[in-house]
Formats: sequence, structure tokens, C-alpha cells
Amino acid sequence: MGARLAIDGGTPVRETMLPYGRQWVDEVDVQAVVEVLRSDWLTTGPKVREFEERVAEYVGAREAVAVNSGTAALHIAAFAAGIGPGDEIITTPLTFAASANCVLYLGGRPVFADVCPDTLNIDPEDVACKVTPKTKAIITVDFTGQPCDYEAIRALTAQHGLMVIEDAAHALGAEYNGQSVGTLSELTAFSFHPVKHITTGEGGMVVTDGPDLAAKMRVFRTHGITADFRQRAEAGSWVYEMVALGYNYRLPDINCALGLAQMSKLDEWLARRREIAARYTEAFALMPEVDMPQVLPGTNPAWHLYVIELNLKRLRVGRKEVFAALRAENIGVNVHYIPVYWHPYYQALGYERGLCPAAEAAYERLISLPMFPAMTDEDVGDVITAIYKVISAYRGRR
Ligand SMILES: *Cc1c(COP(=O)(O)O)cnc(C)c1O
Repeated sequence: MGARLAIDGGTPVRETMLPYGRQWVDEVDVQAVVEVLRSDWLTTGPKVREFEERVAEYVGAREAVAVNSGTAALHIAAFAAGIGPGDEIITTPLTFAASANCVLYLGGRPVFADVCPDTLNIDPEDVACKVTPKTKAIITVDFTGQPCDYEAIRALTAQHGLMVIEDAAHALGAEYNGQSVGTLSELTAFSFHPVKHITTGEGGMVVTDGPDLAAKMRVFRTHGITADFRQRAEAGSWVYEMVALGYNYRLPDINCALGLAQMSKLDEWLARRREIAARYTEAFALMPEVDMPQVLPGTNPAWHLYVIELNLKRLRVGRKEVFAALRAENIGVNVHYIPVYWHPYYQALGYERGLCPAAEAAYERLISLPMFPAMTDEDVGDVITAIYKVISAYRGRR
């Protein structure tokens, strides 16, 4: 007999709720922000360039453009890629809605390609099936922090002349065949939301090797206004020109100072995420009720998330019950993601359920476990204990 589940009135594995993700802010971060608050610049000042250069250097890209969210990063990248009305952009449904919304912002149409059942990343074969003469770009998502199959994706984009926008919100610090994420695609977007690898409160960045793409994004992030100072000086210093319908997507110096301080801890935090992932993988390897997405040889994931897939044929209950039981044990599990086109907004646009069967089947089985660098070994142990406890109680057939 196993211990009684907390959801049935037993004692929970831990006393306090362990969240699935959490930022790590220390005194050095606080001081960096305070210094900016006491300086001349609150918004676009020296910290923006410094932060952009730091991230560009880290990932090995030539250019970086900071913006005030990962969503804005996707929007400016899609703008730079020239996406507009009539264009089709192929992307995955197993992601946060922002990956596809950026296409809608510009009047394009997202086309969903299914995922590979083993990695849960976009399936290049299904992408190939969905390419039409209207296809302009592919938006890949490095799900949980594992890079997609870029060799296959590059072969496709070369054949059809497509751009790749990589949504790397999960993948800062990940590698593919020895190349770092940020150098794999024409445009790579990061998010600095507090659950991501580093945080600026809210924030995002696009990196690219294309100076023209970067210039377009810099204009778009500040109302579509050009900042050619020479031209301004010639015409009179008050003159500026709005050349595109841009937005105010600027990331303030306050936030960039936080981002810079966070960058110095990124390597240590990535190492810790990889350590936690290895412990989970080892603990669940011998549990037939729990599967894990496959990590392909040659990839070094950044582990923003650690997801398990329940083997529902070996359980008496569904994902909903397992999820509730884990929450009752004070393990803050989550689910990533509801297929994008299942959301009412997309349903109203005419997308139908059943479009991507592998992504939908995966969604029914997925649970995200707590994964953040500040987790202690004891926290990791609590998660493993709770999974064993809950799975043992529900083992069997329906
Ligand atoms: C977090 C995230 C985003 C959006 O980033 P925000 O900074 O929250 O706007 C986009 N795509 C994916 C896959 C994400 O996880």
C-alpha cells in the first residue's frame, strides 16, 4: 500500500507550493537597477546597447535588437521578414499563442504543421507537405529548449526560398550540432519573462546576422521613425521621419540593467537546469507510465521546461486527475501547451480541431514539472517523490 494521496486527505509531499518556474533576482541585480534609477537615463540610454551587445556576443550573432516583450520580438522579426497580407507562415501548434499571433498582427495567415511525436518539435516532413506558392516563412519553436531539426528545415527553406524565424523563448543557451541558438536562423527571438532563462521583468530580443533586418527592426520598435542623425543635422535638428507604421516596443534602461546583471549568471543557471533535467530523466526512465520527449543526439537543450507525457494506457485516470493530484501534493505542475488553433479566437478564424493529430495527442498527455535554477536538490526530490506517489496510486487500466 502506498501513502494516501493528498487529494484524498493524505499528507502532501511538501508543505508549500513549488512553482513550475521562478525568477532568481539577487542583490547585484537590485543594485544594477538602482544605479540606473539614479542616472540620467531611464529609458533608451547606454544600457540598451550594452545589453544587446552582451546577448549578441553570448549567442554569436552580429546584431541584436532589444524590445519590451518576447511577443514584440516575434512581431518585429515578422515585420523584418516582410510578412504581410496574403502570406502563409508555417508554424507549430504546440506553443504559446504569440508564436502564431505575430503573423496575424501583419495580416498573414498561420498554417499549422504537426510535431514529431518523439521530440514534439515541428515535423519538417509535415512542413514540406504544407508549403504552397504563398508560403513566405517558417516560425520554428524550440520546444522546452531543444532546437528543432534545423538540418532538415534548412534543406526545405533553401529549396523553397523561405525565411526562418526561430521562436527561441525556451532556448537561450541551447546548441545544435555545436552551433548556438541565435546562429541557426535568419531571425531568432528570445523572451525575458520571469519564468524564462534570464529576466528583465518583461522583455525580449531578436538576434540576426543581417544588418538590414536589424535596421528594419530598430525602426519598427520606435514608431517607424528613422534615427539618421546626419540627415537630421542637415535638415535642422528637430526633423525626423516616420517611414513605417511602427510601435513603441522600446525596452527601458532600467530593464536592460537587470538583464545585463542576469546575463552574468546564465551559464551557471543553464548548468543547474541541465542537472535537474538529468535527475528527472534518470528517475523516470524506469517508469513505464511516464514517457519523456526524446533528446536528439547533437542537441544540447536549454531546458526552459521539463515535460513528461503520461502513458494513459497504463493509468486508471486521465491527465486531469494526475494533474490535480500533483497540485494537491504541492507540486506546481503546469501544461504546455493547448494547441494554438484550439483557442476560440483561432476557431473563429476557421481552424478546425484534428489539424495536427500528433500535437493534439501529445497535449492530452503532457504535464510540465517544476524547472528553475533556484530549485534545491530537496525540491527536485519532492517532485520525483510526488510523481512516484501519484503514479503508484493510479497505476492500472481504465
Ligand atoms: C514566453 C513565450 C513567448 C512570449 O514571450 P513574452 O515575453 O511573454 O511576450 C513566445 N513564445 C514562446 C514559445 C514563449 O514561451
